[in-house]
Formats: sequence, structure tokens, C-alpha cells
Amino acid sequence: MKITDVRAVQPVAPGSPPDWRTSLGQILVAIDTDAGLTGYGVGGGGLAGIHVVRSVLRDILLDQDPEPVELHWQRMYRATLPFGQKGLAIMALSGVDLALWDLRGKARKEPVACLLGGKVGQPIPTYITLWDEVPAEMVNQHRAFKLHIHSPNVTEVADRIEKTRRLLGPDIPLMVDAWMSWDLDTTLDLADRIKTLNIAWIEEPLPIDDLAGYDELSRRCPIPIAGGEHEFTAAGFRDWIDHRRHQIVQPDICWCGGMTEVVKIFEMAKQGGVGVCLHRGAEIWGLHAIAALDDNPLAESGRPWMTWVGGQPPIENGYIRLDDRPGFGVDIDEDRLHLLYA
Ligand SMILES: [Mg+2]
Repeated sequence: MKITDVRAVQPVAPGSPPDWRTSLGQILVAIDTDAGLTGYGVGGGGLAGIHVVRSVLRDILLDQDPEPVELHWQRMYRATLPFGQKGLAIMALSGVDLALWDLRGKARKEPVACLLGGKVGQPIPTYITLWDEVPAEMVNQHRAFKLHIHSPNVTEVADRIEKTRRLLGPDIPLMVDAWMSWDLDTTLDLADRIKTLNIAWIEEPLPIDDLAGYDELSRRCPIPIAGGEHEFTAAGFRDWIDHRRHQIVQPDICWCGGMTEVVKIFEMAKQGGVGVCLHRGAEIWGLHAIAALDDNPLAESGRPWMTWVGGQPPIENGYIRLDDRPGFGVDIDEDRLHLLYA
């Protein structure tokens, strides 16, 4: 089998939020072959990511056998390294990597999860991320909940978390995500106030560049620290895992280098005694990794704007199950895609 084309576009769906997800947003990568199979992946980087695919990555793959995915990854990484390593070049590469994994599964007529040694069909528990509070009617819809709270007002944040814990009862896992909005003292002060509330993790309390701050938190914070949605490649995660700056790492499979890197990150994390909880794990690409690689599965619920990726399994009563379709099992109706950048 030979690759005949590598295409990248930026689809939009009705209701797509007018923010970074669409302005510098998710891109669809399609890899066509002379066997009539097309592999699909989703990466990031918007128009800039599309440019990287078309002007650099496409030429590396044309006329090649798609099978040696890991070899192609290395060649694409080397080609983008001078201007890449992290950020949008790797986000673009991620979409290409996932499309190659989709082709690998389709060629072998197996789901990607099975290629990785896992099974499909088991219920994987889900959690949902909410910005303000957990509506009472949602408590039975997910197995865990995460509150996005950016306010640096520790009293207000602690009150909101306490109220949510009362609503959920003592046992349902509850997490807090600050999206890099706090500093070291704020985080330690808050952690001290909420340490008896059974909080599973505090996510990205500090900017990702504050390595000294995370070192300090790993020594002093009574609540586990999670993060990694803004880190890239297995090489990037190695340092975080070796220094145990996070107790849970959260790679985003569509941004961090694709399945090829997520496989390595799971392996490193297991060896380093660190947990993994994929960012946006209930989206189809991450779900296959969770089904195969995760000893403690918990899938973050998908994002409603990616409706152009068809075939994603529904979340039912807080669980999501993969079916047995080959590759990632996605349906992309290319004729009906509404494109922001074509
Ligand atoms: Mg987050």
C-alpha cells in the first residue's frame, strides 16, 4: 500500500465556539492510499497547522508505505524540529500520526485499541468539566466531575468546592482546574482549606513554565497535582515524570504528538509511578488509548464542537464504550464538511 495524498482542512460545526478552538483550531487530516483506504486524524494549529501539513509533512509521506508509523513520526519530527518541538508543529504532526494509526487499523481490520493489546466494548467511566457549578440533574450522568475555577480569591474558590462536594456526597471524585491562573501561595493556601474534601487533583494551578513552583508543590501540596495538556511529545513529558512535578499527567492525543507519543508517555508514567488521565479522553482518538493502556480509566467528556467527527460512541449514564470497527471507527462525511480553511 502506498500513500497517494495527505490532506488537511479546518472544519467548523454549527455552534462552534468563537475562540481559540476554532480560530487556531482543530484540523482534520486525511491520508489517502492506492488501496482505496483513507485514514483520518485530528490535530491542531488551525491554518498554520494546515500549512505545516501541506508544505512539510505531506512530502515526507507521499509514495511511502503507511505502515512504519513510528519511523514516519521520527522523520516528521526531525523535519519540523528547527521550528517545532512544541506547540503547533507538533499539533499538526499529531493529526497526521493519528491518520496513520487509523490506516494501520483499517489495513489490519482491527480497532486501534486492539492493535495496542486492549479490548473494545468495556464500559469506561467518564467525567465532565464544568465552568460554574454542577447542576443537580447532572450528578447521575458522569462518574466524576471537574470544576474550572480561575478566580484567585481563595475563600470564594474554597466555598464553591465545598458546596459542590456537599451536592455530590463524599465519594464521587471531584477535581479542580485553574488553567494556570494561580501562583504558588494561592495554590498552597487553597489546598490547605480543601484538603479534607476528597479532591482527586488540582489541575494546572501554575503557568507551565513555573518549574520551580511545581517542584515546590510536589513537595508541599497535600492534594495531587495534575497537568500536561500544554506539554508536547514523550521527550517533553520525561522531565515532568522524572521529577514527579505532576502526580497525574494529562497529554492531549490530538496535540502532544498523536498515538505514537501517547504510547510512550503511558509507559514512562507507569515506570515512574505517575498516573495518566488524557485531556479530552472521551473523544475517539484518546478513547482507544485509554481502552488499551490505562489501568485506571477515566475519560474526560468530549467537546460538543467536534460534531464533524462522526461515529463517536455516546456517553450513557457516565460510561462510554468503543465498538469493534477498524481503525478509530470514525465516519467523516467529507462532502458535508463546512470548512473554515480548505
Ligand atoms: Mg485543563
